[in-house]
Amino acid sequence: MKYVFEPQPQPAVRVADGGLFPVRRIFCIGRNYADHVREMGGDPKAQPPVFFTKPADAVVGNGASIPYAQATENLHYEGELVVALKSGGTELTADAARAAIFGYAAGCDLTRRDHQARSKNAGAPWDTAKGFDRSAPVGDIARAEDAGDLSAARLQTFVNGEKRQDAPLAGMIWPVEDILVALSQQFELKAGDLIFTGTPEGVGALKPGDAVKVNVGALSLEFRIGA
Ligand code: MN
Repeated sequence: MKYVFEPQPQPAVRVADGGLFPVRRIFCIGRNYADHVREMGGDPKAQPPVFFTKPADAVVGNGASIPYAQATENLHYEGELVVALKSGGTELTADAARAAIFGYAAGCDLTRRDHQARSKNAGAPWDTAKGFDRSAPVGDIARAEDAGDLSAARLQTFVNGEKRQDAPLAGMIWPVEDILVALSQQFELKAGDLIFTGTPEGVGALKPGDAVKVNVGALSLEFRIGA
């Protein structure tokens, strides 16, 4: 049977040494750095991992200029390490989780903080706070074997050259393997999945014209908020 109209293009992210990584789903973890949990008014040890998703076509590549998001007056950056999967499964062990990793990238979990605050207060879903158009900028993906040892890396976010976030990945409450293990207990993971692994303290608002840079070790993402 033929499609009744042309399907939308497959969302994809560039791989550093060439080729495109086809994006299937985007999973995100909330509250994964203790100091950020505290700055948002929470208790780091109080709860299990919080997962949410963004649509695959929310992904935006490195170097993009993206418009200030509609329907918000408080668009925030959250610099994050992003994990890209080449395989998946359910109920993964730590070894299987490690084997499923294709590579890593620097990313930004753009957030309509005003929507998130309203959702939290109302006990309502986070979709409009997190899953809006162009809410998932992701830098070029480095293959796992080329990404080096990230365990000692720092995550840094700069806005117009000013450092706003600077924290060691070692500050994660749930490290990458733990996240994948826990996610695979909720969802069947598959090749093409991207996982945003949470942001440290120092999140803040963006305005039109801002240039954002996220570095995670040698991984990098740059984008600009257009007018
Ligand atoms: Mn986040």
